[in-house]
Amino acid sequence: MAGFFRMTRPERFRRFLDYFTTNFPEPKTELAYRNPYELIVAVVLSAQCTDKRVNLVMPALLEQFPTAAELGAASAEDIFPFIRSVSYPNNKAKHLAGLGRLLTEEFGGEVPSTIEELQRLPGVGRKTANVVVSVIYNQPAMAVDTHVFRVSHRLGLVPKTATTPLAVEKALIKYIPQEVVPKAHHWLILHGRYICVARSPKCSICPLTDFCAYYAKEVAPGLATTAGKPSSAKSQR
Ligand code: SF4
Repeated sequence: MAGFFRMTRPERFRRFLDYFTTNFPEPKTELAYRNPYELIVAVVLSAQCTDKRVNLVMPALLEQFPTAAELGAASAEDIFPFIRSVSYPNNKAKHLAGLGRLLTEEFGGEVPSTIEELQRLPGVGRKTANVVVSVIYNQPAMAVDTHVFRVSHRLGLVPKTATTPLAVEKALIKYIPQEVVPKAHHWLILHGRYICVARSPKCSICPLTDFCAYYAKEVAPGLATTAGKPSSAKSQR
């Protein structure tokens, strides 16, 4: 625990990156997709919904609407029955119909590669755009979802003042080498999904305890006090 309080933020990042680079060198999204069109549809559907649920509805949806042109020719009412089991199906059906139309009319049916262009598409905010450019185009974009936000704060990778997804995104990419950003996005999501879960983080099986802020302060504060906290510790956070 002494290690945590003596650690600078760059050191914490180094420990985080070292662990995952060694143990999970090739992380992947858990959304099933075969091309950029399928990924952007899946990411739109995954907002406030599990990847498992999205993967369940995608095959039938894609059989009916295999391209952006077919999706764009459909109405929200046409799309709704295929996605009724995901969260917010009414809104997402409208977004997908508009997404298919805009992709077809303005981008020749192809998924654009810039965050600015992607954010013009219905249902595509900064997070979704970041996922697409990161996963498809391997660009150094950090999509901050609820898992990335939570785990970054618990580990102490980002300052408490980073209270918005955009602030967390900026704080993370400041310390992560560009070529590693797409992988770091998956590492944070998967760690949050399976170990550092929202309500009761599974600290007893977590391999990151010796540099985790939450663990040092909330789970084992006695150990931290015994180890001694240098007066400069606060200024590092
Ligand atoms: S030690 Fe606990 S709080 Fe910290 S990252 Fe691991 S599971 Fe999350």
